[in-house]
Amino acid sequence: MRLIDSVHLVGSGRLGFGLTDDCDSHVYAVDGGGEIALIDAGGGRATGRIIEHLVMDGLDPARVRSIVLTHAHGDHAAGVSSMRAALAEIAGTPPRVIASRDCAPWIEQGDESAVSLIQARAAGVYPADFVFPACPVDRAVFGGDRIGVGDLTLRAVETPGHARGHLSFLMATASRVCLFAGDALFFGGRVALQNIWDCSPTESAASIERLHALEWDAFFPGHLSFSVRDGHRHADAAMEAIRRLGMPPPLIPA
Ligand SMILES: [Zn+2]
Repeated sequence: MRLIDSVHLVGSGRLGFGLTDDCDSHVYAVDGGGEIALIDAGGGRATGRIIEHLVMDGLDPARVRSIVLTHAHGDHAAGVSSMRAALAEIAGTPPRVIASRDCAPWIEQGDESAVSLIQARAAGVYPADFVFPACPVDRAVFGGDRIGVGDLTLRAVETPGHARGHLSFLMATASRVCLFAGDALFFGGRVALQNIWDCSPTESAASIERLHALEWDAFFPGHLSFSVRDGHRHADAAMEAIRRLGMPPPLIPA
């Protein structure tokens, strides 16, 4: 599903538009001309359908040269191993897997405890047979690092709080500046705070302040709706609550 000139939505689950598997986050494809990057990989139960959505949008899966992960939660990253393998089969060489320096070792080890998958399965967030296969990470990035995608560049912004090592990505196209926010901020200024070891309300608030201070217009989060223009209003809404020392409303009401 083409959203703007160079951004497509190719995966989405039950907290989105139901394009692929229930357990998939949004998976975006960024088309930089010579190559494509995926932002997040989904949960791994519908990798083939995500690739079908690339093809339906006229994007050659052989041009996907990187998979960039916002964080290591299962719905965003458990599919990275199967996605890397499927794309390697198509292109003859695997795409680069790119993650934050914090998340990289958990992904390389398939560390289901560090990424809170054991707890999330027990809580019924994922089915009992949902697993996190280990996957090599080719590049560990820090805030401020730049990732080339053909003619486009993703700039990493450190946005912990929802989870340790969470990154958002800014990208300027010919027409606008896009923010890929992962699970740091959602439509309407909502947040996703959970009772897991690495979730921190104060870090989440500081990350939203950091995003609010940046200039961007198109807003592409990891779940729920997106905004192709005037997206900064979602950060404005979250900041209203944060300035009063409160927290923005939750993604899923308790
Ligand atoms: Zn998450």
